[in-house]
Amino acid sequence: MSVAPPTPEDQVLFLRNIQRLLGEGQFTASYKFALLHAIADLCVIKGDDTGGSLDLDVKDIAEKFIELYWQQCRPFQSGSQSTGIILQQNTGRQAAVISTVIKAQDDFGSSLFKFKQTAPDLWRSLKGTVKRVVNEMPLWKLQTVGSERLDFLYDNLDTTTKTITLKPGVAFCFRAFYGLMRDLIQGAWVRFVQRLNANNLGNLTDLGTFMFDQERSSLEAYKHILIDVQDRQCFYCHQELRTNLEVDHFVPWSRYPTDLGHNFVLAHPRCNNSKSDYLAAEQHLESWSERNRVRSVELDQRLIDAGLPSDSLASIRITEWAYEQVEKSKGQVWLQQAVFQHLGPKWRELLVA
Ligand SMILES: [Zn+2]
Repeated sequence: MSVAPPTPEDQVLFLRNIQRLLGEGQFTASYKFALLHAIADLCVIKGDDTGGSLDLDVKDIAEKFIELYWQQCRPFQSGSQSTGIILQQNTGRQAAVISTVIKAQDDFGSSLFKFKQTAPDLWRSLKGTVKRVVNEMPLWKLQTVGSERLDFLYDNLDTTTKTITLKPGVAFCFRAFYGLMRDLIQGAWVRFVQRLNANNLGNLTDLGTFMFDQERSSLEAYKHILIDVQDRQCFYCHQELRTNLEVDHFVPWSRYPTDLGHNFVLAHPRCNNSKSDYLAAEQHLESWSERNRVRSVELDQRLIDAGLPSDSLASIRITEWAYEQVEKSKGQVWLQQAVFQHLGPKWRELLVA
């Protein structure tokens, strides 16, 4: 069955409904924000722009949940205090997911990536625990506003369901408005946490950064790998790289925060700076695709050996999504220095797995 993308009217209605969920839904914990955020993230990685429905595994949602809360479970140090506090994310007792994640951090340290690698069984069990919470709480309650149901995202199933099916047009809208969604959800989440923790928070200016700047890998580790994989050449201008070099997120962090290995390239500081938060022009996309294909064995192995997260397929999906959004908004891409151009029609052919 072929489906059409949602009409402009439907897209506006989607935005209105999201606004209602954020504004009117009644919540005792911050779970609804995490759930909406997780769904938006998964639409980028797993969805497409056809306008069709999309099945999401509740397990994958649980995994995103943990990723979001992992960061927020560390002690928050506000300006005036000497010891950090654990942010309260529930009006009553601390939210169950938070307590579970804190326990894991006590046992395994602060790096989620290392935890997944060193204790796969416990990671699976943590995911199982969080999945049950997601099933019983936010998944079930998200679309209740006041005394009404607003089932525009998915149909509620029972609380043991393994998958949800996003309705036609939903994945399309989350992908089209991803940046907007992220800002909306994160802003509302920060305000919620601020209210709950008002007595404990002194200087509030850095709360949003604390909550959402994800665990970023040290970029140093990539330098040694990329310098070989790129044959000591700047990814963008192909001149020799000497001591002065920087690791660049090929799809900028500001568009989609990901630290997956294939998204990194090595460039001169001046090339990196002038690219800034833009996507790179087709010729660079072609080089990126080719580098990851031709050097895939070497690149994969070295990332694994260095204990750095990577998932080439997810990186391709994120890149594809990012270029699709530029294409739709008729945006520009960066070629070199101060030279920008519109994205041509053939970029998709350059992006082969
Ligand atoms: Zn350069």
